[in-house]
Parts: sequence; structure tokens; C-alpha cells
Amino acid sequence: MRNGVNSLSQEEITLYLTCPRAFYLAHIRGVTREFIPAQAIAGSAVKEVIRLINMNEETKKALPYLFATIYERMRWGYELQGIRVIADGAFSLSPYVTMIEGYLRKREKDGGRTILFRVPFRFEIAPFSSRYSFFGVLDELREEKDGRMILFSLTTARGKGGYQLELFRSSSLGMSAYALRYGELFISGRWCSLSLVPDALGVYFLRDHLPYSRGGRKQVEGRLIRYRAGEERGPGIHLLPWDEGDFAGLSRELARIFAAVKRGEFFRSPNLFCGRFCGYSRYCREDFLFKEA
Ligand code: SF4
Repeated sequence: MRNGVNSLSQEEITLYLTCPRAFYLAHIRGVTREFIPAQAIAGSAVKEVIRLINMNEETKKALPYLFATIYERMRWGYELQGIRVIADGAFSLSPYVTMIEGYLRKREKDGGRTILFRVPFRFEIAPFSSRYSFFGVLDELREEKDGRMILFSLTTARGKGGYQLELFRSSSLGMSAYALRYGELFISGRWCSLSLVPDALGVYFLRDHLPYSRGGRKQVEGRLIRYRAGEERGPGIHLLPWDEGDFAGLSRELARIFAAVKRGEFFRSPNLFCGRFCGYSRYCREDFLFKEA
């Protein structure tokens, strides 16, 4: 198969949608990224800690210690691969512990129950003559108190613009929904099919559990809200409607990405912001300089 690709992960789809060139460098050229922001590692550690607490509630008694241990273990994993972990002076682990505490409080207050948390999935699509396979990890499936089944993606990232919500819909959340309906999930040591269609997809912005550092005003759904320093922002959960009709569109989008990868459509030129955030920027710029020379 062209470019040697015969299956794509949720993470790879997200990377391709974010920057096709970074996808090419990481997964076709096989370049190891030069650095990773500490915030990205902390975000993964948050999910792992919540998973452990879901398995054994007793572990939450040692939350700060547990979080620091998991974060350090992940950080070392990157450093052992030769990937620099970069953190600015303002980076600290305590906001991430606050996010986990806020999440646990909210889940307890809302009632309902978590049915699945951080469960691996796999599925195939065959929109044309080719068959494509995908895999990834479903973040959380909840049954709310009112009986609705909601599939969540948890994120510690900043910002919640329309573009970011669409990215969740076309990658991590959409793929998890597809696996829930047509694919298989790895539950209790074996692959099984659930054939479920969630009532909605939800993006849970855990950062909204952090209190405001100073007071101010903002517009929320057309109303002007005042807030004080120290007040919690309130959990920012954004629901995206989802039903049986959305699967066909997602399948077409995944097939389009797969076909573009095989055709070698990786064009994107570096911009001013790339260097700060992208661990592949040096290789990317070298490619462009080389081509221009
Ligand atoms: S430097 Fe910019 S264009 Fe190049 S791979 Fe990174 S994000 Fe993409």
C-alpha cells in the first residue's frame, strides 16, 4: 500500500487534521519529535489518574502524590526516547490536581454513572472498494441521571472554539462513537461489540474547574455574567448532537483522510507560531529551505 499505511489511530487522524505535514514527518518519514510541552504530558496524566480512581476509589486519597507519580513516569518515558520536555516558568502540577478534584466533584453532584472510561476500540470501514481500519481509546461513556447516554472526550487544553469542537467531532469523539455502534471495544480482557448509538457527544473542558485569577465580565449565551477572583469558572461541557445519520458523514471523512494520506497530500508551510508548539518544526523548515534552494 502506498506510504505503507494500512491503519490509522485516533491520534494520527487528529494530527493529520491539525497539520498534514506533522503527520507526514511523524508517521511516514518516522522522525522523532524534538520536544513536547509539559502541558501535553500533564493532560495525559490527568486521564490516567481518573482511570485509576474509577477502578479504585481509595486511590483518590493520595491524589496529588498519585498525579505527580504518573506525570513523572510519563515525562521520563519521553526523555528516555530523547524527546525534550519543555515547560515555561508558570508550569506547575497543582492546577491539574484541581481539575481532577473538580471533575470528581461534578460527577458526584450530577449523579448518573460512568459506564466506560479509557477503553481501547477498533473498527473498519469500506466505503468504496478498499477496506480501512482504525483504532484508538474511548474516553468516557456516561449514563446521565435523565437516562441520556453521552460519549465524552476529556481535555485539559485551552480554548473551545468552533474549530476545536469540529476537530473532536471528526476525530476522537466521532471515531469513538463509530466504534461504539459498528466496531469493537476491549472490555474485561476481550473484544466485544456493543452496537450503541449515544444521544450526544460531549467535550468536557476540565480547565474550567480552575478558578478565575481576577474578576471581570463575559457574555454567556447572550447574557452578561460577572465573576470574581477565586470563583470557579464552572465546568465547560459542550454537547454536540449525534444520531444514526451522522455515521455516513464520518465514514466519508475518514475515507477521505485515508485516501489523502495514501496519495501523499501533506502540504503545509510553517508559520510564525509553529516553532513554539510543534516538535517537528526544525525538520519541516529544513524541508522547505532545501526545496527553495
Ligand atoms: S512546523 Fe508548522 S507546518 Fe511544519 S509540521 Fe509543524 S505545525 Fe506543521
